[in-house]
Amino acid sequence: MRIEGFLTNEREPKITSYFLTLNDKNIMLDYGAPIKDSIKLKSIDLIFISHSHLDHIYGLINDCLNLRNDTRIITTTTTKRLILGLLSHGLINTPNIQMKIIRLSKIEELLYDTLYDFTDFKITLYQSGHIFGSAMILLEGEKKIFYTGDINYYPNSKMLSYIIPDNIYADYLIIDGTNVLRNDFKKQSLTHIKKMIETYDKFYINARPEKCVMIAKYLALESNEDKKIYYMGDLEWFLDILIEEGYEPFSNLKIKMDNNNSYKTNNGIYLSSVLFKEYNNDFNIGLHISMNDYISFFSHFNSSVKILLGHFFYKNIDDINLPDYYVLKDGINIV
Ligand SMILES: [Zn+2]
Repeated sequence: MRIEGFLTNEREPKITSYFLTLNDKNIMLDYGAPIKDSIKLKSIDLIFISHSHLDHIYGLINDCLNLRNDTRIITTTTTKRLILGLLSHGLINTPNIQMKIIRLSKIEELLYDTLYDFTDFKITLYQSGHIFGSAMILLEGEKKIFYTGDINYYPNSKMLSYIIPDNIYADYLIIDGTNVLRNDFKKQSLTHIKKMIETYDKFYINARPEKCVMIAKYLALESNEDKKIYYMGDLEWFLDILIEEGYEPFSNLKIKMDNNNSYKTNNGIYLSSVLFKEYNNDFNIGLHISMNDYISFFSHFNSSVKILLGHFFYKNIDDINLPDYYVLKDGINIV
């Protein structure tokens, strides 16, 4: 058995891939960066994709035509559809798009909270709350490994929170967090956005599709203003997938489609992934969990679980009251 952080170098700390060997099978947990070593690339038996953010899938997009034909790729139906949608709508800059769509159409779709028997090990996915379709994975083989991907927790929102059983047994817990932030970070970013709502009668937000929807949902949850929130037409394909997969991107009559290009004349908050480039504002709106949220996350696991940390942006990790942990480094086996 072998577990290593992979290509989580300092130059591009956000990029996420983990490589592990379990019951003699080589498994990638997310695939953020391309793999240059062709022997390693061909050795991969199974790839799990936690969600459709580029820092978790770009390597897969780049390398998928060079994988073995029998390399299995698994994720949720929503994540698969979003990956294919991002490709077919030109939102991922890569050559051979049509060929890649054909290869990635073979991604196997797994449901949340369902035990799958993969012969060499068993697999269960759990909702991580980070973005639509995002999942954590429990792999049960010679050892039990739980990998989080990015996770989110938001009180009173089933959609924006991770969902796991009270008691999970794992030998290793691989925590992946591009942000470990102070407990007040969600409040801070919402205060910032609320201020904008109060200050301007109209404003435009340009962000990636999933972020547009998350921002709209947070605004609808948090704002008491009767200001309307509008999605622009370029988001329609994305919203269609969400609705078909059981999510509700519209809410409380506050969020609507701008079907009449009213953004030119009317007041409101307008969201688009392609228009309003000059208004691009990277809202740190909190798709991640805070330090205190990590502590309550750990309480779902046996106290003997070994915590393996992937890449963390938080500078002073010792500030977090973590149990014993190990930091995963590029290419170094932790087991
Ligand atoms: Zn993410």
